[in-house]
Amino acid sequence: MAMTNINADGPCPPRWAEHGLFRETGRYEGPAETAKMLLSGRWDFTPLRLWEKANAYNDELLAYAKEHHITILRLVWSPGFSHQADQVQWDILREYIRKTHRKGIKVVAYLSLTNSFWQEMFEAEPQARQWRQIHHDGGNVPYMAATYHGEVSRVLLCVNNPGWRDYFKQKVCAALEAGADGLFFDNLFSKCFCPICREGFAQYTREVYGQAYDMPAPDAVTQDELQKRTGIEVIADSDRNVAGDRPFLHQARSDYWNRSTTEFLTEVWETARKIKSDVLFGHNAHERWPMNQVGNYKLSEDDQPCSYDPGSGAIWTNFGLWKYLFEDGGRHKPFLNGVRSKAEWAEINACGGDAIGVVDPVYHAFHKRFGRQIYHRTQPLGRVGVVLRGLSPVADRAPFFSHLARHNVQFDIVIYEQIDQYKLSLYDLLILLDLRAMGSDTADRLGDYVRRGGNLIATGPTGIAKHNWQPREASCLADVLGVDGEASTAGRMESNFGKGHVVFYPESIADKLKDDQIGEYGRQFIEDVRRLQGTPVIEVDAPDGVLASVTGRGRSKIVVHLINYRPAPVGAIQVRLPGCSFSQVTLLSPDQPEPRLDRVDARSDGLSFAVEGLDVYAVAVASRS
Ligand SMILES: [Zn+2]
Repeated sequence: MAMTNINADGPCPPRWAEHGLFRETGRYEGPAETAKMLLSGRWDFTPLRLWEKANAYNDELLAYAKEHHITILRLVWSPGFSHQADQVQWDILREYIRKTHRKGIKVVAYLSLTNSFWQEMFEAEPQARQWRQIHHDGGNVPYMAATYHGEVSRVLLCVNNPGWRDYFKQKVCAALEAGADGLFFDNLFSKCFCPICREGFAQYTREVYGQAYDMPAPDAVTQDELQKRTGIEVIADSDRNVAGDRPFLHQARSDYWNRSTTEFLTEVWETARKIKSDVLFGHNAHERWPMNQVGNYKLSEDDQPCSYDPGSGAIWTNFGLWKYLFEDGGRHKPFLNGVRSKAEWAEINACGGDAIGVVDPVYHAFHKRFGRQIYHRTQPLGRVGVVLRGLSPVADRAPFFSHLARHNVQFDIVIYEQIDQYKLSLYDLLILLDLRAMGSDTADRLGDYVRRGGNLIATGPTGIAKHNWQPREASCLADVLGVDGEASTAGRMESNFGKGHVVFYPESIADKLKDDQIGEYGRQFIEDVRRLQGTPVIEVDAPDGVLASVTGRGRSKIVVHLINYRPAPVGAIQVRLPGCSFSQVTLLSPDQPEPRLDRVDARSDGLSFAVEGLDVYAVAVASRS
């Protein structure tokens, strides 16, 4: 899991949860969690394993935490049972939190925001039947990421239901009264058509569109199908809301559901702060706006193990997600908790983040020795900004970011919701990634940007809906994109606007890459990016499977991270930093004590050098002599 610990605009976390001052681990255990696992068909258990799992909050865990310098333990408080059934877990934790505090370790309590194990819950709390989320067909809304053997054992409760809100807040208060230092919420789902939600939607649309609408029926592609297709949690079927061409009311419904969860979280946070003013407050929002903005601690479950496919040469990298979290966190370091491989360790460090946990003692020692000079106080140097609205699950977007990374394009993420003149001014080229819905104020800013000489590539239908997803007759960016009259729906268009240059692909490059149908456009798109980005930050001549990421440290250093995603070492890599006037290069690697640097050539128009071979990771630091 990856996380940032700060919001761009929100309140700061307490000091003990600031970057560099904590090490966290989550332990999903205890009797309530064990019951949850059994009811979710999650694992093959033996009686011994069951016993261990139920009794895992013990002295051994504390000793482990002390030994590994863990300062925050995330422990299960309430996965979806009634208060009565949670009692046994709470009794254990009340005692355990006291012990944990005596060791100087903080505790974050894990709660499921919407889940209920209804067989138990409805018997213990009969009124909970009224709290259920209701599907369009009148049935329950099951939690989707479990394997049910026979009857569905987990159904979701409604975030807009006042009864559930009050009951849930009692769980939160109990956790804080037990001494929890922080709260972490999972399962932030709202997919509800209950009367409260329907009425809320009518009111929401009255405010947003000036007219009340009925909540639309689910799409032809159901959430269940999506779930199966992506294999990851779907919060409010909003994963299609960026690129998809659904009627605007479906987008409005996703927005409404996300906003409902946001309101619930906000209310919970207010309640929590009355008990503990500096409570750490985070959740698993899958990066979705606006709920990802409530809290002082963020976590993403959407990273996947990075990989290289020797057949196609395709790389799976989390570069896009790390860069998103970096930006979303106000350019504070994102963290990867529980790093799985050396390449993964290298890529989060190369994107301005930090890996928590030891992937390899040598890598750990490397970070200790050189961390200050190569990872601290760095800034991205990319001059390509990818503008996107929210973030759909990484499975949808990762192929696009991997495609850019594979061609060593140095890009940053620009979050649509945070666009301002300053952000735009940082880039020579902006790529609008499926910005179907766009406010006219944003369109004006983008128009100004191009008129003054910024370059633009737009992919996918762009600006054809208003900020609130209501369709427009013509794209608000039509003049900039050079689209007049009947807009094309395919191909590639190139034009000038003011001093800037514009390329428009009416079909989504990200969708084509995801569906493996990119064909000729893959090469053409990269050519366009290369041509329009101005002087590239870096040029790399390396075997397939090697990625480069460039960061700067003030004006005195350029740090080139080279990562090999292949399982075996690769041969020589040629690097050129056009426009770089530095003449000194130092090569460092955790894989070799003295990695070989070759052919360093410093000229007025740039610096070039060769790296003789690469196991997994090397860093070249360029500086003045
Ligand atoms: Zn509802």
